[in-house]
Amino acid sequence: MHTPLCLHAAGEPSEYAARAVAMGLTEIGFSDHSPMRKDNFDEWRMNSDKLSEYVENVGKARRDFPQLTIKLALEVDYLPGQEEWIRELAARHTWDYFIGSVHYVSESWAIDSPHQLAEWRKHDAYEVWAVYFDWLTRAADSGLFEIIGHADLPKKFGIYPERDCTSLFDRFLQTAANRNVAVELNTAGLRKDCKEIYPSPKILQLARQKGVAITFGSDAHAPGEVGMNFAEAVQLARASGYAECRRFTRRKWEMVKF
Ligand SMILES: [Zn+2]
Ligand SMILES: [Zn+2]
Repeated sequence: MHTPLCLHAAGEPSEYAARAVAMGLTEIGFSDHSPMRKDNFDEWRMNSDKLSEYVENVGKARRDFPQLTIKLALEVDYLPGQEEWIRELAARHTWDYFIGSVHYVSESWAIDSPHQLAEWRKHDAYEVWAVYFDWLTRAADSGLFEIIGHADLPKKFGIYPERDCTSLFDRFLQTAANRNVAVELNTAGLRKDCKEIYPSPKILQLARQKGVAITFGSDAHAPGEVGMNFAEAVQLARASGYAECRRFTRRKWEMVKF
């Protein structure tokens, strides 16, 4: 879940926590968009001088709702070459987990940005998906992340390659399995043009076959989105053969039945 510090989410962490308690959730996690080494890299993340404020705001939600377990995390952008910076971020606070996400397929194009939708028309969809999954595979292989976020984000606007992408998925998922990295079931996809949870049933079935663990996320950018469509996510997970998900505390995992 996110906070206003990333400049495109609404509601303070305590408001998300209040919503979670009202829904009967017992544990939530904040994973706002991490700062880049270079501030003002884009307009949809916190600058590095906001990191302490972020940690304090999550701490306030913990104090306001002691009955709720609240995890402190980051959704970290993976671009090749950022590894050292990500290690520095990891050392700054006691994090429960890092979600590694690929939004960029070059230094300047975030494939999920509605402001950069025109870029899609300049590129072959398969080439974009191939670069995206190559970087996602590198993220899984980096050892920097417990979870890989929204694994098939390129489908956000409903633009799919004509070519079969199974080999891209296979390579990514085999790497996630080898490195013991979990894949997130992210319900935000249901709120986008693709109208489908990230990742697709096909990817999830392949993940299950390879023994890749899962987590559940709503990717809430407002309190009203907390835990949104979790019943559908659980149904999808069960249909793919999952009965357990992963939970993280101070970057150590345990399995939880659902
Ligand atoms: Zn966001
Ligand atoms: Zn994301």
